[in-house]
Amino acid sequence: MLVVMHSHATPQQIEQVVAAIRRMGLTPHPLPGPTRTAIGITGNISVIDPRTLEVLPGVLELIRVTKPYKLASREMHEADTYVRLPYTTIGPGTFTIIAGPCAVENEEMILRTAEFLRQQGVNLMRGGAFKPRSSPYTFQGLGQAGLDILARARQRTGIGIVTELMDTENADAVQSVADIIQIGTRNMQNFSLLRRVSHSSKPVLLKRGMAATLEEWLMAAEYVMAGGNYNVVLCERGVRTFSDHSRNTLDLSVIPPAKHLSHLPILVDPSHGTGKRDYVPAMALAALAAGADGLLIEIHPDPDHALSDGAQSLNFESFRCLLSALHRLAEPLGKTIN
Ligand code: PEP
Ligand code: MN
Repeated sequence: MLVVMHSHATPQQIEQVVAAIRRMGLTPHPLPGPTRTAIGITGNISVIDPRTLEVLPGVLELIRVTKPYKLASREMHEADTYVRLPYTTIGPGTFTIIAGPCAVENEEMILRTAEFLRQQGVNLMRGGAFKPRSSPYTFQGLGQAGLDILARARQRTGIGIVTELMDTENADAVQSVADIIQIGTRNMQNFSLLRRVSHSSKPVLLKRGMAATLEEWLMAAEYVMAGGNYNVVLCERGVRTFSDHSRNTLDLSVIPPAKHLSHLPILVDPSHGTGKRDYVPAMALAALAAGADGLLIEIHPDPDHALSDGAQSLNFESFRCLLSALHRLAEPLGKTIN
């Protein structure tokens, strides 16, 4: 349910509606717009008698939101969401590059990568300290020591940090270092984890579950937003299909419907989407052409000796070439790389 206020509604009238919604045991979400404020309502809205809100001063109309996801939908929030960070802004009109290694391996490689990215004008670096690995016998990440390395890299270079949170146990540690908290494909429907980050002040990068429909993905975003964290960035990383020529099937065709149904920004991860470094540049350029708002991409100073995902990681030179091709393509598309 969405309460649309008159363009001349006063702050007191908005507050009155918010209070009335709370008295019904529901959660109000004020959504200020350029001309008027709307107030989203989440919770069990079947208990609402719409007339009790319709008659309040300053209320223009009540709109029923038909989609099961509410706050994530364009029905409730028509304008595009921009996720604003100290270093950059993610949203339409820009194309945000988040690059870095799959995992934090040691301080030297992280510092080298951070310095290289800053020279290239990239403002956000990825790197997992906690790694979800298919095998318990492979490198599992450096954990807290990895987070400390990321924190020092930010301090030294000013680069923003994107790193994965795997469990509620490490939420405080990860959110104290991360500028964006990454939720991985395997955790897209880990509802206790989603609820935990819904109370975080840090934006959430929500990867698509490897077998998730668009609706399930948006419902996962809804969990984060329902708790009050509206800064959600979607990330398509490929889904499981019968195809075996690539690690996953990168579903670029999800971008237009995601943009149609939701106001949230969407990034593409061509590294996990293809699994092979030779295929990454083509899919990165295709993501830009398809309307994505940026990339999450794996790079490594020495991919052949990486502790994880080296096969899909670009070296610095290949990344530099890709970046220049992205700049050339972004211009006619009216997008600025940031
Ligand atoms: C990652 O980005 O490092 C990662 C593990 O990705 P995904 O969750 O998409 O597999
Ligand atoms: Mn990886």
